Amino acid sequence: MKIIHIASEINPFAKTGGLADVVGSLPASISRLGHKVVMFMPLYKQVSEKYSLEFHSDFPLHTSQGIKTVLIKKKVIDKDTTLYFIGEHSYFFRDVIYGDYVDNAERFSFFCRAVLAFIKKEDLSPQVIHCHDWQSALVPLYARQDRYFEKTCFGYTIHNLAYQGVFPYEKIHQISLDPSFFTPDKLEFYGKINFMKAGVIYSDFINTVSPTYRDETLTSKFGWGLEGLLDTRSKDYYGIVNGLDYTEWDPANDPDIFVKYDSLSLRKKEENRKKIMKKSNLLVRPGKALFVAITRLADQKGMDLLVHAVHKIAASGHSFILLGSGEKRYEDMFLHLEKTYKDKVRCYMKYDFAMAHKLYAAGDFFLMPSKFEPCGLSQLISFRYGNIPIVRKTGGLADTVENISENLSSGDGIVFEDYNTKSIDKAIEKAFEVYKSDSFDAIRKRIMLNDFSWERTAKKYISLYERYSNA
Ligand code: ADP
Repeated sequence: MKIIHIASEINPFAKTGGLADVVGSLPASISRLGHKVVMFMPLYKQVSEKYSLEFHSDFPLHTSQGIKTVLIKKKVIDKDTTLYFIGEHSYFFRDVIYGDYVDNAERFSFFCRAVLAFIKKEDLSPQVIHCHDWQSALVPLYARQDRYFEKTCFGYTIHNLAYQGVFPYEKIHQISLDPSFFTPDKLEFYGKINFMKAGVIYSDFINTVSPTYRDETLTSKFGWGLEGLLDTRSKDYYGIVNGLDYTEWDPANDPDIFVKYDSLSLRKKEENRKKIMKKSNLLVRPGKALFVAITRLADQKGMDLLVHAVHKIAASGHSFILLGSGEKRYEDMFLHLEKTYKDKVRCYMKYDFAMAHKLYAAGDFFLMPSKFEPCGLSQLISFRYGNIPIVRKTGGLADTVENISENLSSGDGIVFEDYNTKSIDKAIEKAFEVYKSDSFDAIRKRIMLNDFSWERTAKKYISLYERYSNA
């Protein structure tokens, strides 16, 4: 099959979160299973500056803002995989890739239309076009207006329902749609335009990134107003857990960590802990663990519970390191913790890829008390690095982390259910126990052998492509 993936960020070219990891890995696994894959993403300023890409072509595209020139650059990943970048200087040469820009609707509608125009111009004739999140959600809607795409199967993945691409009604004119699309069965959403609705309505199948999150999104608590619409598509709505790129995340072969190790040389993992603690001016105390968190500083990630947990961890003599970026109010909370527990808590407020690797390698426990979590990659990375995840039972965390049993002989993390301080307190106490126990190393070894490789996930997507493109 020929399969096209369209996304606003693809690792390593641009990444703000899990979406980039997924679209950076899934297509390669699909092509390894014998399919041709073409990918599209915007040509951001940051990408242009960092990568030397091959010029492919340019062509004009009519928009409500006049004729714009679409610049196409490309990167051949391997013989079966090509990535095209859609450039337009005024839209994508900006300091941040999303930002609070007033023309985000125009920017990403342009991206969608330019991709479709290019596919047609080059006659790529894909069997499947697979779009991701709100930024590419208009693709199936635009394509349905064009007979060229009559036989194409459209798949749509929701990586995070909390971000739907909602814009004022007036934008309808700027995104090349006539007002007949502004009705509740199309794009209208509480008086505004909702891009994600287009992906859900006009695609043949939709999915999100874990079975539990799929079910949660059908409830008013987690549906963000789209639960009713998703319910109308429930027959074609799936939950598929993401995989992890085991080449990128491999402690035995990770150039970013201090000392490489595997499940048979856990002693070397200790070196990683000591080195990062020293570098962070934290006191290494015998018999005390290092807890880490690497996260967007956002409400979704359970920041209030995390702060509460850090007090308990530090007050008990254990250490904590945070690597995070996001909302200022949370930064302030963590900086306050750092001041309170000078030799036990360190908080790095930045997005730092290499530092993330070091911390996964250094940690004994990884904290992830999310309010909701579509899939979550950090717990899978933590498994790989023998860093025991402490998670709340929600979404993909519920599907991937099995609570460690009372006698510690089974399970791969510490799972708590209720979103309150009492529950996380119990989870932290259990971590202290696990750390002291004779089973600690056995648990770390066990979780390092978990298999969340992409191949399994890619096969599930391929079976959906086959089912829906023959339907
Ligand atoms: P989300 O996509 O909701 O942010 P995920 O757990 O699915 O959460 O994916 C987060 C990814 O981003 C992981 O690879 C994690 O290591 C990485 N990450 C998050 N914050 C940072 C940071 N400050 N620096 C480096 N990497 C980060």
